[in-house]
Amino acid sequence: MPANFYTDNADLKFIMEQMLNWDAIIAMKETIGGGDCPYESAEEAKTTYLEMLRDPVGELAANRIAPRAEEVDDIGCRCENGRVIFPEPLQRNLKDLEDAQLMGMTIPRKYGGLQFPETVYTAAIEIVSQADASLMNFFGLQGGIAETIAEFASDELKERYLPRMSTGEFTGAMALTEPDAGSDLGAVQTRAQEAGGMTATQDPATGQWKISGTKRFITNGCGDVILVLARSEDPAKKGGARGLSFFLVEKNPRVTVRRIENKMGIHGSPTCELAFDECPAYLIGMRGMGLARYTAWLMLAARLAIGAQAQGIAQAALVEALKYADEREQFGKPIKQFPQVSAMLSNMRMLVEASRALLYATCEIVDLHQGAEAKGLREETKRYGKIAEALTPIAKYYATEIANKVCYDAIQIHGGNGFMKDYPVERLYRDVRITNIYEGTSQIQVNWALPRILRGDLEELLDAEMNRAVSDPTIAEQRGRVREPLALLREAQQFLQGKDQEYRELVAPHLVDMWIDVYVSLLLLRQAEKWDYKKQVAHRFIDVMLPRVRMNREYVAHSHVIDLNAKA
Ligand SMILES: Cc1cc2nc3c(=O)[nH]c(=O)nc-3n(C[C@H](O)[C@H](O)[C@H](O)COP(=O)(O)OP(=O)(O)OC[C@H]3O[C@@H](n4cnc5c(N)ncnc54)[C@H](O)[C@@H]3O)c2cc1C
Repeated sequence: MPANFYTDNADLKFIMEQMLNWDAIIAMKETIGGGDCPYESAEEAKTTYLEMLRDPVGELAANRIAPRAEEVDDIGCRCENGRVIFPEPLQRNLKDLEDAQLMGMTIPRKYGGLQFPETVYTAAIEIVSQADASLMNFFGLQGGIAETIAEFASDELKERYLPRMSTGEFTGAMALTEPDAGSDLGAVQTRAQEAGGMTATQDPATGQWKISGTKRFITNGCGDVILVLARSEDPAKKGGARGLSFFLVEKNPRVTVRRIENKMGIHGSPTCELAFDECPAYLIGMRGMGLARYTAWLMLAARLAIGAQAQGIAQAALVEALKYADEREQFGKPIKQFPQVSAMLSNMRMLVEASRALLYATCEIVDLHQGAEAKGLREETKRYGKIAEALTPIAKYYATEIANKVCYDAIQIHGGNGFMKDYPVERLYRDVRITNIYEGTSQIQVNWALPRILRGDLEELLDAEMNRAVSDPTIAEQRGRVREPLALLREAQQFLQGKDQEYRELVAPHLVDMWIDVYVSLLLLRQAEKWDYKKQVAHRFIDVMLPRVRMNREYVAHSHVIDLNAKA
């Protein structure tokens, strides 16, 4: 049977087919029987989504994209006189995605897109990333850029750009980072322009905006449609984030690629330094809301995409490690039979499934939120929006940290061969390293999650899982074991109410890890109700997380740093 990265992935298929609440997602996101909705029933919508994941996505990823990944990585992208040149196999990948009409997966139908839910798009990103993580930086970035345009740009801009993004004729980029503004985007052009920041000025006669300055580390900065964060207001009157606006720039001679970065991984994704010289730009939305509203919105979508990218890389590493451990013999037997190796594999598999459970639980909420907003349901928009904002950075943090760990262990299982370019795990190890850095580092995701966990934005999720009726006694017993870590989590939350911000940030990773451990245990137990094998996964996860939650509770209570000014 030919390989297929959807049907071969039993866990992803299980989540897509049995775990998600499609009725709720479809009720929010579609208007069955009305408008331009092509489906006559929710069942038809679901079948269409899942069929798409099987073929073309799963088929294309396994049989065309994956076999080209090594060559894309070897050749990489080049920049000659401001022109970025893609390796030939990457060009074929992009053409395949275009031909399969996959470049506009979440773009509204009226602009030629498929208007699929985020959940389906995220699964497609995972599958594509399993084949070639760098390709995701075209395929997975496209959605966030296009959705931001669809949500906030004028009708004229939507008409002009979205149809061409749907076909793949135009690809997108987002230009936020500057030499002095990385994690701290509020610092965009707070210094003089010669420091490399962005300024935007408007011609009072014509209303035309022009932007000047430099952006760095811009993925696909050579793309056709660039969303740019720039300072539009006088810093003396409106400083910091309040002075930033959001702009759309169409590729033109006044924006040039100065160079592309020479990177550790994702060689098939050009990371550009861009120079804007009095470059014509269109304002998106309202002035002064560039960071607080539009960038924040775009980053939520992009963070989900990076979580899925990490998930795909972790899946690829797991598959490679399982295969190698079956084939490689030492001391007269396959290495898989050694207890330490099988424990490592077992742990990797459990972690891959744990982070996938959290990733798609997050997607479901994001879809419910988007659907509620589109339908003008105020209560639901508020409720799901609050959860989505807290859960997305947590899912990104968890998926990317887990994927790094899984790739590390995949190399270990390969022994010396893992260090060689002859095996795919070497590339996966390099590619995965960026996932917990871009779109906000893990520290930034944790900082984002911290106040939201402390003020109880996610309590509803824990309560729903703890109060779910369970008939299976094994599952009920395991759920009983989650009561203790849940109580420790609540104690830690309470304890931090009385602490200052510096102490809270110091112990934030421990608190967030405690929250994840509790919630993921409950998600895996819910999965166990539908698939017996998952009882083993949930049981092992709870065994491992119990002592970890106790340890993290201790860290929350007693943490301090050593004197970094002492002579090292
Ligand atoms: C390959 C690649 C592609 C990229 N693509 C894009 C793109 O398409 N568009 C774009 O705009 N940007 C892009 N970036 C930039 C990326 O988003 C930033 O590199 C990232 O957000 C981190 O910023 P920084 O590199 O300036 O690190 P810094 O902000 O300097 O961070 C350095 C360290 O300090 C820590 N730190 C910083 N602030 C805090 C804090 N408040 N609390 C705790 N720890 C903190 C960080 O976690 C990190 O460990 C890309 C980067 C790379 C490498």
